[in-house]
Formats: sequence, C-alpha cells, structure tokens
Amino acid sequence: METVVIALGSNVGDRQQHLTDGRKFLEGITQESLEKSSIYISEAVGPSTRPFLNSVVTIQSNRSPLDLLDQLKQFETDHGRDPSSPRWSARTIDLDIIDFGHQKFESDRLRLPHPEYQNRLFVLLPLREVCPQWTDPINDKSIDDLISEAPELIIHRTELNW
Ligand code: AMP
Repeated sequence: METVVIALGSNVGDRQQHLTDGRKFLEGITQESLEKSSIYISEAVGPSTRPFLNSVVTIQSNRSPLDLLDQLKQFETDHGRDPSSPRWSARTIDLDIIDFGHQKFESDRLRLPHPEYQNRLFVLLPLREVCPQWTDPINDKSIDDLISEAPELIIHRTELNW
C-alpha cells in the first residue's frame, strides 16, 4: 500500500462542486482514509482567464501507478473534460498524481513524481496542509524550502467547504 498525493484543480462552471465530486470519487477508490486540504484560489496560468480552485488530497492505493492514472483520466472524461483539449485550456476538473509512494517512474503517459510541482504554489501550499513532513522525492528538500523557492503566484486559502 502506497500513500499517493493527488492535486485537484477546476476553473470552469461550479468549481467547488467539481472539486467535491473529485474528492468523493477519490474517497471511493482509497484503501483507507483520505486526507484533504483547504480549497485555494489562484490566478490562472497561461491563456485561461478564470481563476482556479485548487486542493490536494492523499489516498492509499494498492494498484499500480498506471492503473490509478487510468482511473483518474476516466473520471476526468466522465466529468465532462475533453481529453483532446489543449494544455492550459479551461477545465472542469484536473487530477494530477504528484507523488506515488516516493516512486520515480517515467513513461509516455506518466511521470513520477509529477514534473511540475516544484513550480506550482497551488500544489505546494495545499500539500503542506495535509503532509507538513513531505519531502521532495527527487532532492529530499522540505516542503517549506520548496515553497520559499517556488515562482510567485497570486493565491489565497479559502474557507470553502468541500
Ligand atoms: P494534464 O493536462 O495535467 O491533465 O496532463 C496531461 C497528460 O499528462 C495526461 O494525459 C497524462 O498522461 C500525463 N501525465 C504525465 N505525468 C502525470 C502525472 N504524474 N499525473 C497526471 N498526468 C500525468
């Protein structure tokens, strides 16, 4: 059984509801408990204009990373996300595997840990809430160090329930 860090994001429609639906889906596939962060609101990166709601959960999985990726992508498609839409486009729900038991893995479809978390305060800030002891699987940096080195971003923690 591995602890898996998953980042959720939405900038289309009822964003809070999309994150809630994602959290419920992940609760259905975790082997044990699910831990969730607060919801954060962050400016959109790239040409999307509407701000994103972001959050992070941890689950426990005994499936392979690629099986889990298939499950997440299927949920995104079922949830109204067009898999052929370009990167950075508006999205109902985005589920990224940030860390899978500190494994390192690289294929066409999946990179572990996720290649971008160091640059994404919208992942690092909610991750610190659920895993304050988390360290970077690549270089063992603390989450506080990663946060202090990440590019600036306009981001706020919200009191939204989900
Ligand atoms: P995204 O636009 O964030 O949904 O990512 C697009 C593609 O990135 C997906 O279809 C995945 O095949 C690929 N990908 C590579 N590594 C990861 C990861 N760690 N978590 C989620 N998707 C990933």
